[in-house]
Amino acid sequence: MENYSDLIEKQREFFLSGKTKNLSFRLEALNLLRRLIKSHEQELMDALKADLNKTEFDSYLTEIGIVLEELRFTIKHVRKWARPRKVKSTLTLFGSKSFIYPEPYGVALVIAPWNYPFQLAVAPLIGAIAAGNCAILKPSELTPHTSGVLSKLIHENFPEEYVAVVEGGVEASQGLLKEKLDYIFFTGSVPVGRIIMEAAAKNLTPVTLELGGKSPCIVHHDAHLKFAAKRIAWGKFMNAGQTCVAPDYLYVHKRVKEEFLMLLKESVKELYTMDAISSGNFTKIVSERHFNRLAAFLDNGKTYFGGRTNKEALAIEPTVLTNIDWKDKVMEDEIFGPILPVLEYDDLPEMISKINARPKPLALYIFSESEQVQKMILDHISFGGGCINDTVYHLSSPYLPFGGVGESGIGAYHGQGSFDVFSHEKSVLKQTTRFDLPFRYPNTKDALKKVKLFIK
Ligand code: NAD
Repeated sequence: MENYSDLIEKQREFFLSGKTKNLSFRLEALNLLRRLIKSHEQELMDALKADLNKTEFDSYLTEIGIVLEELRFTIKHVRKWARPRKVKSTLTLFGSKSFIYPEPYGVALVIAPWNYPFQLAVAPLIGAIAAGNCAILKPSELTPHTSGVLSKLIHENFPEEYVAVVEGGVEASQGLLKEKLDYIFFTGSVPVGRIIMEAAAKNLTPVTLELGGKSPCIVHHDAHLKFAAKRIAWGKFMNAGQTCVAPDYLYVHKRVKEEFLMLLKESVKELYTMDAISSGNFTKIVSERHFNRLAAFLDNGKTYFGGRTNKEALAIEPTVLTNIDWKDKVMEDEIFGPILPVLEYDDLPEMISKINARPKPLALYIFSESEQVQKMILDHISFGGGCINDTVYHLSSPYLPFGGVGESGIGAYHGQGSFDVFSHEKSVLKQTTRFDLPFRYPNTKDALKKVKLFIK
């Protein structure tokens, strides 16, 4: 196992020099990052193509563009976020003032997955830098081209005692986790999330865990079916379903199931053609192991459309499976591929209790025109975040903190949320020396009686 104690020691020393806390220094770093991304856009797109066969459109929209937006937003607001905030003092604290100072943790480790290998590594990094931390980035080993470009860009432009990239797989992660870190931001699967939290617990290191799970997508009988079909086809099959917030499975009301599935097929045809895997423009499955895992689901239920694969190209076409129930293999864990199983329901409360019998999802989508139905679902199911009458889009707003709940994760980021997760809020009370209220002391006459006047 590699030893990273020197790197972490160097970063801690640099952090303690105070440089990273300087706001101009942070802004300079964020602006540099932005320039680097803009000037290496093509190189990044080529790497994403080589790793996952992503189209330039997808790469820009879901990886590069989203990160540039996050940078723009952060650069614009970080001065305000970093300012100490004055808060009220209560009457019992008469004479004093109270402040909250956001302060960086120190050395932050960011561990990223392979599905959006650029965005999910760099978006947390923006938060870490903005908050004034030093950072170590550990991208996924399954997307080596993107990881290589990231490593080159960072190492050629940032001193490693400030921002470093450690490439490698599980051993690299484990080597880093052995050391004492000040913050760990992990994006990945639920089982690895548990390992990360266990490692963090040894040093009581705070964590953000951005995990996954089975995200339901509900289509009620009063939904705008045509829009629902297109928005679901887009959200599910983008990146070949390898999106943490992709609809994992559909729950469609019995009354509209047939009509909806026909529209869904139309939408897939419109967006990806009916021969997506021969088009050369459909994202591939990241590895043979994942390809085999997914291919094994294709005999579950009945294939409504799709189902063809190309092992050599690691491609699976958009597939919809009907006649599915909760006992099918495809319903056990997060699918994370272009396979969409369809369950039907008749009774809303019963469907809600079926979802609630499982771990809390990372995302949930409701398609319905009825405010009452929307409210009923929102009131009765806990989930990380989601949309009404859309899929995936909630993730793109810097005003909506993004994260899971229960098994789908701990903590949330994006926009100010990214600054906040990488900042400790230091609360400070500044007492007056103009006077000294006597009743706080036990030797005051009738101390208890006087205290009770204020503390009731
Ligand atoms: P993963 O958990 O296998 O790997 C994530 C990272 O952890 C990689 O960098 C990997 O090298 C490292 N890792 C793997 N095993 C490890 C171990 N035993 N000890 C220490 N580090 C280890 O996840 P993945 O396959 O790369 O990504 C897919 C998963 O990520 C899905 O479950 C998906 O839902 C989830 N995800 C969540 C979000 C989110 O924002 N919530 C976003 C994308 C993906």
